[in-house]
Amino acid sequence: MERRDFLRQSAFAGLGLSLMPTLLQSCQKDDLTVNFQGKVLIIGAGSAGMMAAYTLQQFGIDFEIIEAGANFGGRVKKITNFVDFPVDLGAEWLHDDPETLGEMINDPNANGTVDMISYQPESIMSWDGNSLTQLNTGSQFYREYKFKNTTWHDFFEDFIVPSIASKMHLNEPVSSIEYNGSQVSVTTTNNTVFNGDRVIVTVPVPILQQELITFTPALPSATTNQINAIDFPPGIKVFLKFSNRFYPDICSVDTLVPGEKIYFDGAFKKGANDHMLTLFYVSESASELTELSDADIFTSVMTELDQMFDGKATQYYLDHVIQNWSNEAFIQGSHSHSGSGSIAPVQNVYFAGEAFTDGASSTVHGAGFSGRDIARAILQGN
Ligand SMILES: Cc1cc2nc3c(=O)[nH]c(=O)nc-3n(C[C@H](O)[C@H](O)[C@H](O)COP(=O)(O)OP(=O)(O)OC[C@H]3O[C@@H](n4cnc5c(N)ncnc54)[C@H](O)[C@@H]3O)c2cc1C
Repeated sequence: MERRDFLRQSAFAGLGLSLMPTLLQSCQKDDLTVNFQGKVLIIGAGSAGMMAAYTLQQFGIDFEIIEAGANFGGRVKKITNFVDFPVDLGAEWLHDDPETLGEMINDPNANGTVDMISYQPESIMSWDGNSLTQLNTGSQFYREYKFKNTTWHDFFEDFIVPSIASKMHLNEPVSSIEYNGSQVSVTTTNNTVFNGDRVIVTVPVPILQQELITFTPALPSATTNQINAIDFPPGIKVFLKFSNRFYPDICSVDTLVPGEKIYFDGAFKKGANDHMLTLFYVSESASELTELSDADIFTSVMTELDQMFDGKATQYYLDHVIQNWSNEAFIQGSHSHSGSGSIAPVQNVYFAGEAFTDGASSTVHGAGFSGRDIARAILQGN
């Protein structure tokens, strides 16, 4: 199921609850014949870039990760100082079975468990702009999980980053890539130059669509047409801390596409004392918020919540955090809504990331597996 379909369903699905420690030793390391001995440059340290690096590292292949931002993670990001549990500012759900985490680690020697919450909201409402409707939870069931005491960022930090951190270069925005089929040279805005034999580009789609990285020779039009056809709408999350809980587990707001704007209890089953309501808004219409100043975003959200809940938002308000993904210089939006599927490599230039996968597009694990699979293809000499 695509993430977009999940959002449609999750806004309405009726779901129970359980806690699940996830075993991380579920997979054997790959058995793969390596036909490549060179060096791979990886642009971007999001899920796709980190998983590509992790895979190459497992096979002893040299690589460098070149990341524009000050931290790894990309759209996987957390804060720890807002409420009494760590908060995912971007990706939050695991849109698959918990065993997926073991598949990502892919190491029989890995130790540890991750506590996952089976995300099965019990109180579900819908807001049409005038009135709240209690939805019948019905009999639908969809497997969705969240991290209980940790985050997606912690998952990478704990299990993936330790073995690749020494080859990760932060604060190095790539501005140009020169390639000739056998060699590749990558230059950053700091004029740092990295040389290698292959490059895996994992930057978000808008970075490519706006040609913020120049390719020499220019990418073929078939490739740029495929990239430019991808829909990548604006996106934002707003986190509101309240002294009381006055909201249901999840409340969808009527938009053109159901499930693209939802308020949900961000503390759901986390065993926390603090109360946090989260707005998730990813859609073309999300520009009604993403283009506002932070002060106006806050006012707009509080006004809507006060209408929905008879002024209780203002009554119980304590604090808030706004994560406007459309304003992030190295992201510039949310996630693909029409993943292009995998893109054929151009000589020794490869593409990976959430938009460039034939699997679970628009997800963290889908992005990660696309990075892993491209790394495997390079390892096999493809
Ligand atoms: C609001 C929101 C909520 C979401 N919720 C979920 C969820 O609950 N579950 C889920 O599975 N998915 C969710 N997603 C989607 C998920 O976050 C993404 O699909 C996934 O994280 C993308 O990984 P990636 O590696 O493809 O890209 P990214 O994580 O964007 O990584 C790309 C990296 O490239 C870097 N970069 C950009 N330009 C340059 C440059 N010029 N030079 C070098 N580096 C550069 C960026 O800084 C970034 O670190 C959500 C996304 C958003 C925005």
